Amino acid sequence: MPSVQSSGASAGSPGADGVLIVGGGQAAVNLASSLRELGWQAAVTIVSEEAYAPYQRPPLSKAFLSGNAEATTLESRSAERYESDRITVLTGHRVTDVRAAAPGRPGVAVTEAGGRLEFGHLALATGARPRRLTAPGAGLAGICYLRDLGHALELRERLSAAQRVLVVGGGFIGLEAAAAATAKGKAVTVVEAADRLIGRVVAPVISGFYAAAHRRRGVRVLLGTAVSRFEGTGPADTGGTVTGAHLTDGGFVPADLVIIGIGAEPRTELAERLGLACAGGIVVDGFARTSDPAIVAAGDCAVTPHPAAADGALVRFESYGHAMDHAKVAAATLAGVPARYEAVPWFWSDQGPLKLQIAGLSGGFDQAVLRGDPGQERFSVLYYRDGRLLAVHAVNSPRDYLTVRRVLAAGQQIPPEAAADAGQPLQPA
Ligand SMILES: Cc1cc2nc3c(=O)[nH]c(=O)nc-3n(C[C@H](O)[C@H](O)[C@H](O)COP(=O)(O)OP(=O)(O)OC[C@H]3O[C@@H](n4cnc5c(N)ncnc54)[C@H](O)[C@@H]3O)c2cc1C
Repeated sequence: MPSVQSSGASAGSPGADGVLIVGGGQAAVNLASSLRELGWQAAVTIVSEEAYAPYQRPPLSKAFLSGNAEATTLESRSAERYESDRITVLTGHRVTDVRAAAPGRPGVAVTEAGGRLEFGHLALATGARPRRLTAPGAGLAGICYLRDLGHALELRERLSAAQRVLVVGGGFIGLEAAAAATAKGKAVTVVEAADRLIGRVVAPVISGFYAAAHRRRGVRVLLGTAVSRFEGTGPADTGGTVTGAHLTDGGFVPADLVIIGIGAEPRTELAERLGLACAGGIVVDGFARTSDPAIVAAGDCAVTPHPAAADGALVRFESYGHAMDHAKVAAATLAGVPARYEAVPWFWSDQGPLKLQIAGLSGGFDQAVLRGDPGQERFSVLYYRDGRLLAVHAVNSPRDYLTVRRVLAAGQQIPPEAAADAGQPLQPA
């Protein structure tokens, strides 16, 4: 195995003044572009293990799975744009080892194939990987995950042939995939171990709304039960294909395709090799600096303080908006113009015709104010703690979402009693 001790830099090395960004997702692209916007002159190299140039992940469980988008339309930037911004993108190279730069000595990242990338500055944007289900039979063919384009290509092909789809996990990705499969006429069952959908993030009224909305569209939603083992045409190691799943409540769900969406785990392995502090993600400060302040980390791989977090807790965001905003913070730190991470968190999820938009962080709320009628599939919930506005979750209500996002960004307030009157537009007090 090549080591950081061997000599000679590979093509694409950013060199002793340049920055190496490990990762090929939204955070990596935005970090690179932001560096150029901030006037960074030295080389910028993105190194990604994926076979594709950086692309947008959100459509993978939406338009792409439904067959309404193609891989080429997902690209984050054109090749010409990278070239004009002088950003080198190395695809198909997994970084397996890394040594930090020291005074008078460049840092070195070693790739699986033996490449050796020398750098002066290092940014980790390694993202997350899907959490694996360990139930017996989980290795059968037809049991799929959805994190990257490779997964999505396989899943889309299997979906077109499938009749009965089991979605394990009632979080955003599972529900988006369920909506896409239902729209394609498949018989879909969602199994969620908790007693409500998306329970980690939304108030019970929104969980209940999504369970009812998916059921109205023909999805079987099973709550409070989990997969105990999968059944297949034969053992996984002899090429068996899934035929269904036994549940902990004794039930059985027949399925010829299973989509697992039980969360994602931060990719901290390189940070750990570097000896950086990790605790449920790479620990960074409000300026995206890791425990080695010369190294930044951004996006899904990091846990960060944020002014909206309850009790000063470190938060690991998993959203497109965070990947963009946090990357800007990391770039500003590298460029020597540090700016604290304070952007209002935002997120969306499209499940068929239902668009959920989130601004702010609802954690620690003690009051949830409902505006509008969930029965009309158009409503929002505003979250408060001690009477102070924390967040909005808006379903098919973009105006409420935008207003709260602006109000939070401006440090303004909307009193709960004013928010409850859906006949009046939301406005700051
Ligand atoms: C299917 C799906 C749908 C989503 N939908 C939404 C949505 O509707 N709204 C929303 O706000 N968010 C959504 N998200 C979340 C959002 O896409 C992510 O939060 C965001 O993409 C994170 O970006 P990132 O750059 O931090 O990490 P990632 O996108 O995970 O990128 C990390 C990259 O680093 C590469 N990498 C890791 N380690 C190495 C290494 N050692 N060497 C080389 N390369 C490495 C990985 O292969 C990957 O390409 C969705 C995510 C998925 C998977």
